[in-house]
Amino acid sequence: MSTPSLAPQGLLIGADELPGARGDTRTLVDPAHNAPLATVAVGTVDDARHAMEVAEKAFRESGWAGDDGSRRAKSLIKLAQLLEAESDALARLETRNMGKTLREAKGDLGYVVRTFEYVAGLADKIQGETIPVVGSRFDYTVREPLGVTVHIAPWNYPLLLAMRSVAPALAAGNAVVLKPASLTPLTALAVGRLARTAGVPPGIFNVVTGNGGEVGEALVADPRCASVSFTGSGEVGARIAQTAARRVIPATLELGGKSPVIVFPDADLDRAAKGVGFGIFGNAGQMCWAASRLIVHESVRGPFLEKVKAIAEATRLGPGLEDGVEMGPLVSREHAGHVLEYVDAARADGGQVLTGGARAPGAALADGNFVLPTVLTDVPATSRAVREEIFGPVLSVFGFTDPEEAIRLANDTRYGLFAALWSRDLGTAHAVARRLDAGMVNVNEAPTSFVQTPFGGFKESGIGFEQGVRVVENYTRRKNVMLNLGAPRKKG
Ligand code: NAD
Repeated sequence: MSTPSLAPQGLLIGADELPGARGDTRTLVDPAHNAPLATVAVGTVDDARHAMEVAEKAFRESGWAGDDGSRRAKSLIKLAQLLEAESDALARLETRNMGKTLREAKGDLGYVVRTFEYVAGLADKIQGETIPVVGSRFDYTVREPLGVTVHIAPWNYPLLLAMRSVAPALAAGNAVVLKPASLTPLTALAVGRLARTAGVPPGIFNVVTGNGGEVGEALVADPRCASVSFTGSGEVGARIAQTAARRVIPATLELGGKSPVIVFPDADLDRAAKGVGFGIFGNAGQMCWAASRLIVHESVRGPFLEKVKAIAEATRLGPGLEDGVEMGPLVSREHAGHVLEYVDAARADGGQVLTGGARAPGAALADGNFVLPTVLTDVPATSRAVREEIFGPVLSVFGFTDPEEAIRLANDTRYGLFAALWSRDLGTAHAVARRLDAGMVNVNEAPTSFVQTPFGGFKESGIGFEQGVRVVENYTRRKNVMLNLGAPRKKG
């Protein structure tokens, strides 16, 4: 067996890079070949406690939380510049660790750079208001940072989703402790080191790697944790919400989805088919907002499915670093197995596999976690494959004749993260968008988001929003100050 090719990685706490308190390490593998990539420290409850202590001290003593938001803005702009300069290397690292194509990883890096630029622009505009009150009084509000904020990230967009909440928390003056996903911590660690170069004081940006059930739980349960931003599965999100509720601290939860995409008969079918393909095969389907349920009008169902099938079958699979590859492997062998179990469940429930439904053939892909882009038809709405999030490149197809039926099918899920619809009739688009039970709706657009547009879900897809100009509200608290000016009362 080959040996890991990258230097061993420690926990970033304060100015130090430390081994875990127990000395345990985890060997990460590259999902395209399942060959060792790096060893990473596995943190413990003691490491979590240490990180929180260091962060809290830095919050109190470093001056980062002070009123001069322009100081934070300068560091965050500097960090954006460093990230841009390093973006090629970081994108390669992301691809090697998580498996996504280099093109996708470069897209993620661009998004992260924009995130830091955007929040840097907000850092010196966090302000309160004055409120008229009777008498000789002056009343105003201020927005203060929370203190130490905890951020727990998933593996599908390892850097992007971690920084989506870390960046605004830093802009608002907090000290952050980030726990990246166990499988994909490498880019977060690299950016934690860059933050030091950018002038973020030691202890303000800490990264603790390790298992969620140990390190993640300990960070949220720590009395110094002032808020938690979690992106991940509903199951873990609910657990974190319970811990946060016991501690009475705010939690932003960005959880799973089973998003519908409705195609009306008047849609531009070529554009819609490309959008549907991107929405389920992008990032190998490992997207919280993957548009995994296609609801297509019966009058165009046949020709539309031919287009989607052609896109699926033309998708070039391979290691993400290879030129021209359009879909990389799934993140782990275990996860590829779970995805294929859902295909088996759909088959057992009477579903048909229009294309895919198996591991990718060929000796070149045999060592990696490659699953073919898959389209399923005739799967009953009660099947696990339709009810649960698969988190892989698997699309289920439904037909409709009446728009009411399309809306009912679209909303028939416990999730409410995202929905898309394709129609040239803006009246239909507007009316249907209003009735879709999802935090984000795209019209004539595949899943697309910008740092300035809010991102969040309804129902079991979560609580709260990330991104957008109001994101700093997640990471500040409002204080009301009333002054009695003591001016004499007017007589008479
Ligand atoms: P996961 O819930 O298994 O893990 C997410 C993170 O939580 C990891 O860092 C993990 O180590 C940590 N964790 C695990 N158990 C924990 C515990 N008991 N306490 C604290 N932390 C714990 O999710 P995943 O498999 O990494 O990611 C896939 C899931 O994330 C999917 O459900 C997907 O839909 C969701 N997701 C949501 C969004 C969104 O914005 N809504 C974005 C991406 C992914």
